[in-house]
Amino acid sequence: MGENKQKSIGVDIGGTKIAIAAVENDGKLLFSTEIPTEADKKFDTAISRISDTIERLINQVGWVTSDISGIGIGCAGPVNPIEGTINNPYTLPEWDNCNIVIPIYERFNRQIPVFLENDADAALMGEWYAGSAKGFNTVLMLTFGTGIGGSVLVNGKIYRGISGEHPEYGHIPVETEGPECYCGRSGCFEAIASGAAMTTAGQKECFADSREIFESYRQHCGGGAKKIIERTLHAISTAAWTFLHTFMPESIIIGGGIGEQHFDLFAKCFQKAIKEATMVPSDGIKILKAQMGNKAGVVGAAYLPWERDH
Ligand SMILES: [Zn+2]
Repeated sequence: MGENKQKSIGVDIGGTKIAIAAVENDGKLLFSTEIPTEADKKFDTAISRISDTIERLINQVGWVTSDISGIGIGCAGPVNPIEGTINNPYTLPEWDNCNIVIPIYERFNRQIPVFLENDADAALMGEWYAGSAKGFNTVLMLTFGTGIGGSVLVNGKIYRGISGEHPEYGHIPVETEGPECYCGRSGCFEAIASGAAMTTAGQKECFADSREIFESYRQHCGGGAKKIIERTLHAISTAAWTFLHTFMPESIIIGGGIGEQHFDLFAKCFQKAIKEATMVPSDGIKILKAQMGNKAGVVGAAYLPWERDH
């Protein structure tokens, strides 16, 4: 039985580290490792480091090239998944406008197909195949961490926009006079409810980071922490209202470091919105916590070769 399992390599490129794993198509992660992203160094160096690590991993698990369905890469966006290019000057400045698919494909002698996906979409694929999104056809996943990521699955397929682009759910407006966002506008969801935005707001109140703000809020200290968390939850409620009416998903998955740790607070915003939304079915929409943790992206990326196959 084991011999029939399909095999692939998943790569999850974040702003600071890259996770690389050997995965079988039942979601089983055989071997995984991490290398620093080093996004300030030349792209060629990154290609060599990623390819060397993949090669080492293949040898460690004892796979032969002809057995491998492909290499799937999830990368912090924007990316163009169809062309295989990274268009992210924000967190991967030296790699901007670089094609990642072709050089890795060439490096493995054109014997292993290579695919690229936005990392938030890869994370939803991971949850859909092996985590809490399993069994649903229409899913919205939001990840709350340093930034806010989002992905939507429609009838079992990742929703794509123009040129295969990934919609930016972190930049929907939630406060008209809100703080400035790095995208150039003000009052974006991400400019208020992301870990980075909370930290910026908290530093004015003498908190080191979002973790300290949540800690103080949980201890009912009131003051600055209460103000920042209430503003965050209000932003999430406003966004929840938009997401519910736009997508009517069967389930909403909340993930990311902050999202999972404070799932109780975040889920409440969605549950309240569902209760109050007269145009939305009041029962049946499931609000669930992501199950795969930081492995969702790498496992989801590994599913790309099988996903794009049909
Ligand atoms: Zn924005």
